[in-house]
Amino acid sequence: MSRRIIPLADVSAIPDFAGAAAAPSGLLTDTLARALRDLRISVTDRCNFRCVYCMPRDVFDKDYPFLPHSALLSFEEIERLARVFVAHGVEKIRLTGGEPLLRKNIEFLIDRLAQLRTPEGRPLDITLTTNGSLLARKARSLKDAGLSRVTVSLDALDDALFRRMNDADFAVADVLDGIAAAQAAGLAPIKVNMVVKRGTNDQEIVPMARHFKGSGVVLRFIEYMDVGASNGWNMSEVLPSALVVERIAAHFPLAPLEAHTAAETAQRWGYCDGSGEIGVISSVTRAFCGSCTRARLSTEGKLYLCLFASAGHDLRALIRGGATDEDVATAIARIWEARGDRYSQLRGSASAASREDGPRVEMSYIGG
Ligand code: SAM
Ligand code: SF4
Ligand code: SF4
Repeated sequence: MSRRIIPLADVSAIPDFAGAAAAPSGLLTDTLARALRDLRISVTDRCNFRCVYCMPRDVFDKDYPFLPHSALLSFEEIERLARVFVAHGVEKIRLTGGEPLLRKNIEFLIDRLAQLRTPEGRPLDITLTTNGSLLARKARSLKDAGLSRVTVSLDALDDALFRRMNDADFAVADVLDGIAAAQAAGLAPIKVNMVVKRGTNDQEIVPMARHFKGSGVVLRFIEYMDVGASNGWNMSEVLPSALVVERIAAHFPLAPLEAHTAAETAQRWGYCDGSGEIGVISSVTRAFCGSCTRARLSTEGKLYLCLFASAGHDLRALIRGGATDEDVATAIARIWEARGDRYSQLRGSASAASREDGPRVEMSYIGG
C-alpha cells in the first residue's frame, strides 16, 4: 500500500489578548485544573532512524518536505520562550525530536536552558530523549553543558530485529555503547524506553528486562500508540502493559511501587530481590490525561496542548512579529487556560471521533 505524504498540522489562532495582560504567577491551570509543569521541545524534525512505528520509510522518504533551517526556532528563540514557560510554572524541560542529537551544537542550547531558574530560584530538570546512536560521542559534552538526565529508546536486543525496526541498519551495540557512556558521564538515572509492538518485538520483553535488571537503568515499556497519521496503527498490535508486567513477573517477581509524583506517566514496579525497577506507560489501556501537565513546542515554534492534537498555536509568528515577553506570556496563559485536551481518555468514544478536525501531527515533529 502506498501512503500519501501527510501535511504538517494546521495552525490554531493565537487568542486575542489585547489589553488583558496576564503576569505569570507560576500557577497556570487549564479547564481541567491541570497545571503547566512540563515542556517538551522538539529541536529538529529530522532523524537518522526510520522506526517503522514513527517515521515509516515509505512516507519519510527522500522527497519528504522536512523543514528548512530558517523555519526552525533558533536557540535564542527557544530560550526566550522557555523563560516565559518557566515563569508560568514549567519545572522540567525535555528536548526531543526527531533525533535531538542531530541538531548542531545542541550543547549550546542546553547550556542556556541550564541557566534558567524557577520563580522559587530552583534550576530546571533538563532531560533529553534520544535514539542513542550519537550518545557515545556526546554524553560527556551534554553533561558538561548542564543536562540532568537522559532517556534512550531501544526496542530490542536482538540485532537483526532492531535493525529491521529502526530500518536504517543501526546496531544494538552502538546504542548500548551510548547508554554506557551516559552512565559513565553521570547522566543518571538513565531510562530506557521500549515501544512494544505485539507480534513484532514482544518476544524481547523478558530479554530486555533480564539485560537491564541490576544495572541501575530503569527500563520502561510503552504501549504502541496511534500517534500521527502515517504509522498504520492497529489496536491488535498493542500489548496491554498488564500483560508486560505478567510476562516479566513470571521470570522475576515484581511488586508495585509508589509514583514519584502525581504527574508521573509510568507505573513503577520493583524487582522483589531489590535489583531495581521497571516502568510501564499504558498510554492506550490506562489513560493518564487527568494528570497531564505537558505542553509541547514543535520544531517550528507551534505550541501543542496534546500529543494527539491536529493543530498548534504559532508562537514563532508571535515572536518574529515583534511581540514583547509580556505579550507572549499573556498568549501562553490564554491558550493554557482554554485547554481541555484528553484524547487518550476519550479514545474510541464518539466524542474523540467527532473531535477529529484534521490529520494528527506527526510525533517526529512534535516530539515524544
Ligand atoms: N528520536 C528520539 C528517540 O527515539 O528517542 C526522540 C523522539 S521519539 C519521537 C520519542 C519517543 O517516542 C521514543 O521513545 C519513541 O520510541 C516513542 N514513539 C514514537 N512513536 C511511537 C508510537 N507510535 N507509540 C509509542 N511510542 C512512540
Ligand atoms: Fe527517529 Fe525517534 Fe522516531 Fe525512531 S522514534 S524514527 S529514532 S524520532
Ligand atoms: Fe496528555 Fe493528550 Fe496524552 Fe492525554 S492524550 S496524556 S492530554 S498528551
